[in-house]
Amino acid sequence: QTADSLYIINSNAQKFFSNALVNSDEGKQIALTYLYERGFSDATIQKFQLGYNPSASNILSTHLLQQQFNPDLLIKTGLIKKNGEEWVDNYRNRIIFPIHNNTGKIIGFGARIIGKNDKAPKYINTPENEIYVKSKVLYGIYFAKQAIDKADECLLVEGYTDVISLHQAGIENVVASGGTSLTVEQLRNIKKYTDNLTIIYDGDAAGVKAALRGLDMALEEGLNVKLVLIPNNEDPDSYVRALGTNAFKSFIAENKKDFIIFQLELLLKEAGNDVTKKNAVVNQIAETLSKVNKAEDFSKQQQYVKQSAALLNVDEAGLYNLINTYK
Ligand code: ATP
Ligand code: MN
Ligand code: MN
Ligand code: MN
Repeated sequence: QTADSLYIINSNAQKFFSNALVNSDEGKQIALTYLYERGFSDATIQKFQLGYNPSASNILSTHLLQQQFNPDLLIKTGLIKKNGEEWVDNYRNRIIFPIHNNTGKIIGFGARIIGKNDKAPKYINTPENEIYVKSKVLYGIYFAKQAIDKADECLLVEGYTDVISLHQAGIENVVASGGTSLTVEQLRNIKKYTDNLTIIYDGDAAGVKAALRGLDMALEEGLNVKLVLIPNNEDPDSYVRALGTNAFKSFIAENKKDFIIFQLELLLKEAGNDVTKKNAVVNQIAETLSKVNKAEDFSKQQQYVKQSAALLNVDEAGLYNLINTYK
């Protein structure tokens, strides 16, 4: 009941935002110009239903209140709030990215500041409510699910604009985690369409760390995980624009690395010649490999044990024994 009402309000607001983006002078001059400068086409803007919340304090509030929606529900959507007696739009002067669930209903919004401003957060997102559950959000899943199914692979990026730019470049099997670390709910949603997950995160330390945090969980869910790191100071959005579609696709194909082996090599490099650290690496890899087995894929685990034992310079039987201690 509440959920249905929230969907209706969100859909209503989305139409308002889209209209404000393309049909108002302010929207055109400030927001649409910004989106064009970022390279987004009209078709892309329409497909993702991008919009604009005008800068006046309460245009959306007035629009929604006029339609007799329940004020408590309006507050729940996070779109507007009450400041004393005054209603205020929460996302004023921001670009609006509607977030759809698997069936295309709008569960919430991401709202981006236009240009740079160090005082305000770059993005504001819908607060938790009956239909917006942060841990479940997979931005772009509605637009990607068919392509994921067809390619039997899901690309996972960090941000809204990464998803949108890759779509515009013709790469449609892509969703975003929203900058947070992966959750089991997100992984299970992906698993409905494919077993093959390719994480394409920013190449900075934060990107690598975020990716590593999701690895064991993804393995436990039975996903095959590959990793591509985008060069520093770029993200998939900026990089696909810099390289063009074909070169970007080649880059992904050539730099796709099995995630378990990536983790092993990274840890080994960090350990250097330190024997204690190297022992810790052996233990950590054994733990990771025990998750592969949990997914009941024994031949896959066998291959990893072979490869890992060689890289670690330990014997396979010993590694199996260690793996068994983690079950
Ligand atoms: P843009 O290209 O518009 O600058 P981005 O996606 O590259 O956006 P990042 O800073 O790389 O932005 O962040 C990745 C994702 O993390 C964003 O798309 C957004 O979902 C989320 N995010 C970033 N900053 C915030 C914030 N301040 N609050 C909430 N979520 C955020
Ligand atoms: Mn980043
Ligand atoms: Mn970006
Ligand atoms: Mn980014």
